[in-house]
Amino acid sequence: MSHFSYKNGALHAENLPLSEIARQFGSPTYVYSRAALVENFSAYADACRANGRDDKSALVCYSVKSNSNLAVLNLLGSLGSGFDIVSGGELLRVIAAGGDPRKVIFSGVGKSADEMRLALSHDILCFNVESTAELRRLNEVAGEMGKQAPVSLRVNPNVDAKTHPYISTGLRENKFGIAYEEALDAYRTAAALPHIRVAGIDCHIGSQLLDDAPLLEALERLIELIDRLEKEGIVIHHLDIGGGIGITYDQDKPVAVGDYLSRLFARIDTWRRLSYAGKPIQVMFEPGRSIVGNAGILLTRVEYLKHGAAKNFAIVDAAMNDLMRPAMYEAWHGVQPVQQRADGARVYDIVGPVCESGDWLARERSLAIEQGDLLAIMSAGAYGMTMSSNYNTRGRAAEVMVDGDRAHLIRKREDAGALFALESVLPRG
Ligand SMILES: *Cc1c(COP(=O)(O)O)cnc(C)c1O
Repeated sequence: MSHFSYKNGALHAENLPLSEIARQFGSPTYVYSRAALVENFSAYADACRANGRDDKSALVCYSVKSNSNLAVLNLLGSLGSGFDIVSGGELLRVIAAGGDPRKVIFSGVGKSADEMRLALSHDILCFNVESTAELRRLNEVAGEMGKQAPVSLRVNPNVDAKTHPYISTGLRENKFGIAYEEALDAYRTAAALPHIRVAGIDCHIGSQLLDDAPLLEALERLIELIDRLEKEGIVIHHLDIGGGIGITYDQDKPVAVGDYLSRLFARIDTWRRLSYAGKPIQVMFEPGRSIVGNAGILLTRVEYLKHGAAKNFAIVDAAMNDLMRPAMYEAWHGVQPVQQRADGARVYDIVGPVCESGDWLARERSLAIEQGDLLAIMSAGAYGMTMSSNYNTRGRAAEVMVDGDRAHLIRKREDAGALFALESVLPRG
């Protein structure tokens, strides 16, 4: 169910009117539903349990980059989530939020030696290594620390995720992962390095996938590879299939998480029964968008209406610096008036105050609105706040989490002074 719905013509987050949130915290403001987050995480956790997995044999590692607010991380951590990070900064966030570093996996193509040291010092669960050059550096860093780094190699299974090219990552031409044909050699290298311990295998083929067929195809490629590795005595303890399940932005009908996981576990169980006498393999997931995407909206106020011969514009107080997805991928977000009006609908482009023609949030939407009205930009919980910037010296939006009929400020609005506090002018003379 949606946790953002109308009651008597007023859009609510759970049991709280969004107008009340704007009154208390101003706009633009990201608003998240705690219940939606719990529900979306539980879809994974419940499906793991329904397929006979416990906390040890399946692990959901929430993708921190999709929404890294401490309150979100803290909530998911309390539900048993692990975390998939892509920087040292994200590791520090997870720890600050009370998350368990021993449930952290570290992805990304460009880990620095400092980031490796930080992660090793916190004994993270696994490094998802994306090249042999990275493997050698990790071996050196771990050696200096007298440690062994647990690794899985991110293999590029060369399957087409059939999603937007900017968020498709599993094809040969992408920068991510180790080419399938080179993976065997890379594993042999890993197995021979003294400060590397081979733990698992992983992939992540893209984002906003509506169908699980490409994921199940990627699974087949990983299974083939694991079988070949085991024949050489390289034992794979976990299989990480990545994230990528999509959400409904417009008319999208994503596969249900429970159905996808049932098919995935069924295939894994058959394989393990036939080839490994039923010996289990730990399964990991790295979902981001499917947990947080539909759990958040961006609340914004109409500053001006500009009616023209060719187009009507609703100029709002949120902009591309707050929500970059439309400008970056031409992403579609639903727009709903916070207070429904009976008539006066016109077709508007919803645009922000930033000095770029690309600064639009939605195009050609029929809305009955007046100056000063509030709008909700829907499905903005993932890759919204985390991709925001200070372009045009605009402070980032506030973030609020609603729990029932209570609103909690989980990030203050940035004020302009803080934005240039780290800067200085040249000395005189
Ligand atoms: C971004 C990312 C994810 C999360 O993807 P979603 O589409 O948000 O589920 C998972 N794993 C890796 C390696 C990523 O880069």
